[in-house]
Amino acid sequence: MEVAENCSVKVAVHIRPLIGDERTQGCKECVTVTKGKPQVQIGTHSFTFDHVYGNGASPTSMFEECVAPLVDGLFQGYNATVLAYGQTGSGKTYTMGTAIKDGSETGLIPQVMNSLFKKIETLKHQTEFQLHVSFIEILKEEVRDLLDSEPVSKPATPNGNAVKATVPGRPPIQIRESSNGIITLAGSTEVAVSTLQDMAACLEQGSVNRATGSTNMNNQSSRSHAIFTITLEQMHKIQLVSAVNDTPDEDMGEEFLCAKLHLVDLAGSERAKRTGSDGLRLKEGIHINRGLLALGNVISALGDEKKRKEGVHVPYRDSKLTRLLQDSLGGNSKTVMIACISPADINAEESLNTLKYANRAR
Ligand code: ADP
Ligand code: MG
Repeated sequence: MEVAENCSVKVAVHIRPLIGDERTQGCKECVTVTKGKPQVQIGTHSFTFDHVYGNGASPTSMFEECVAPLVDGLFQGYNATVLAYGQTGSGKTYTMGTAIKDGSETGLIPQVMNSLFKKIETLKHQTEFQLHVSFIEILKEEVRDLLDSEPVSKPATPNGNAVKATVPGRPPIQIRESSNGIITLAGSTEVAVSTLQDMAACLEQGSVNRATGSTNMNNQSSRSHAIFTITLEQMHKIQLVSAVNDTPDEDMGEEFLCAKLHLVDLAGSERAKRTGSDGLRLKEGIHINRGLLALGNVISALGDEKKRKEGVHVPYRDSKLTRLLQDSLGGNSKTVMIACISPADINAEESLNTLKYANRAR
């Protein structure tokens, strides 16, 4: 495989419109986009990214520019990762389309699924395809299967006490690395899908199962990283050429390619202190930050050509998130980070933090 062109990490910013809450509070917009440039300003700060999507940007252009090349890469055997980063309420889930009810037509995952099946349709006469999906979340450095049909705990009893699961669940999911660097999740559900409807059903089942916890910021706030992974296996028939006289062989050979695309709806990037919570929530906050911190360090090490040339250590092993994504970040794989921000003045500090984080990735 040829080496991917210079830097394999692209960064886009998605600025959502003011939403109901912000309007009723009388918020003003504090983020501006430079006309004709992928540049955003907030206060006295100015940042340039690969792409900026502000008010009026079409969701199809984000898909076409940022994600369609990754889907094409899958068919050539390249792994890829799309990450949505930002504070709770900034539009990560909307942008990814992780929750089917929200932006189910326009989110990136539904668009990925559409284009994937369209492409397969045009190629299926010459290639055999096998698709698998998994959907997991990482919460407090633990991996949870969102497609496991066995309930983990029983519903509450009539007196309101939750009953701990008496049936021992499956063993915890483990991240394994093979000798050739391929990362697998041992013990997670891998669903074989053959239609768009099957795949959409997995997305929906997982998004319903996704854990949410209530905080002061937003009672649907997500403290976990949700990772929807599509694995594409291909078997091409290829014409073999005789080694003796360079003429086509009678037998057809086969070429096998396997690649995966991770679509990641990251945990909210706001600081634990802002969720104004008890010790437990704070601990979760610290764990979430471990993943986001490690991700920032990994991406910034990958994006820095000088560092890469010097063979600087890429700290994949610092969190479950980065270990899981290890074979799909850097190397030949393509990565897109979409930094999601609110335009509201009350969120200016967090929006600035998000832009700074995203800026490190370039
Ligand atoms: P997050 O996942 O980052 O917590 P959400 O995706 O849940 O944020 O978005 C928060 C709210 O803002 C939701 O009500 C969502 O529908 C709305 N929203 C997010 N992005 C957009 C957008 N681009 N256009 C319109 N509404 C949006
Ligand atoms: Mg969300």
